[in-house]
Amino acid sequence: MPKHIFGRSTKGQLPTAVSGDGCYIIDASGKRYLDGSGGAAVSCLGHSNARVRAALHDQLDRLAFAHTGFFTSDAAEALADRLVAEAPEGIERVYLVSGGSEAVEAAIKLARQYFMEIGQPKRHRVIARRQSYHGNTLGALATGGNEWRRAQFAPLLVETSHIAPCYEYRDRAEGEGQEAYGRRVADELEDEIQRLGPETVMAFVAEPVVGATAGAVPAVPGYLKRIREICDRHGVLLILDEVMCGMGRTGYLFACLEDGVAPDMITIAKGLGAGYQPIGALMVSGAIYGAVAGGSGFFQHGHTYMGHAMAAAAANAVLSEIEERGLLARVRTQGDKLDQALRGALGQHPHVGDIRGRGLFRGVELVADREAKATFDPARKIHAKIKAEAFAAGLICYPMGGTIDGVHGDHLLLAPPFIIEDAQIDELVTKLSGAIDRAIAA
Ligand code: PMP
Repeated sequence: MPKHIFGRSTKGQLPTAVSGDGCYIIDASGKRYLDGSGGAAVSCLGHSNARVRAALHDQLDRLAFAHTGFFTSDAAEALADRLVAEAPEGIERVYLVSGGSEAVEAAIKLARQYFMEIGQPKRHRVIARRQSYHGNTLGALATGGNEWRRAQFAPLLVETSHIAPCYEYRDRAEGEGQEAYGRRVADELEDEIQRLGPETVMAFVAEPVVGATAGAVPAVPGYLKRIREICDRHGVLLILDEVMCGMGRTGYLFACLEDGVAPDMITIAKGLGAGYQPIGALMVSGAIYGAVAGGSGFFQHGHTYMGHAMAAAAANAVLSEIEERGLLARVRTQGDKLDQALRGALGQHPHVGDIRGRGLFRGVELVADREAKATFDPARKIHAKIKAEAFAAGLICYPMGGTIDGVHGDHLLLAPPFIIEDAQIDELVTKLSGAIDRAIAA
């Protein structure tokens, strides 16, 4: 049979996924894979959720799509209301798109339009962090600091400033308290705003818990509050990218609620549709919406599939599941159990440098030498070998092998479905430990 698909990789043949059963994906040979990372922190309800399936059938039977240039839909209206009801203070409007990159693109364009509307046309610069990923479309890629993803497209990317991440494991100095460390790295934002000229800076973009660059790195307590203060001092918008860490992944519907920080805009996707539909959203403050509504009256942006009724119906069902099954509390308890199980199995492992994260969003950083925090030779591709060993053993985990500030890293991200049972946590940790040992021995 000829194969014409042009997928992520041009190498090799992937198994064909044919069905889902809760936390498992089943391939054409009948092999079962425990979805330890929910793909890329997507499948928060597992793979065969009855409520989402019913909601999709119901929406499809009534109406799949009506262009948002002409109509709104009950599903989209209800979703926006529900998201705002749970959002941090000040967030009042929801712009529905089809994924994370689209949400970030919309945020950057809206930030620019906002400053045009309020008569500050010099503001156009974005500051982000070196350890970050905000999407693969050109604007979002320019915002992210992930060197490997940016490298060959650099000439196409608009200039963006990248300051230090909040990456305690590698950067907090010996004897430096968490609070002092958080302040030191947050203050790089102050310095960069001053260097660029505050009147030219439009927004600071960050993930509250870093996902796809380094495996679930939370900021230290107080860091985001300091960032918020600096943004306020200079009239710079704070955009928090919760595409990965949002929608309950950390045990809170929005990760920044745990930090006690309210941004001007939040981007979400992934867990919003739980993989049942492609959907993302940009959530914005009443002030930003008001400036556009009371100004030109029109956000000069848009996509054909924005506000798609099927996608919104799926997301409404996801929110109902989270609410009615008490899944946020479950993420916290199962997340603690996963953390303990990882620490039990790998806490003293000579090649595990750090275990970190929040809720069911956990990262493991591999090192050649635990004491010196020395990294593996990148040519060994330890992260990719662990992924392959785990996959062969029937476990899906998300590997990362980027360079941050010249330091190569081998990281793994774990983001299992919120419904994960204790026995499946054991299965995950046992399979992962074996995969790590085999990959390093190879
Ligand atoms: N922002 C963050 C924080 C992400 O993790 C991702 C995807 N990994 C994106 C944006 C881009 O989302 P998408 O792949 O849905 O375009």
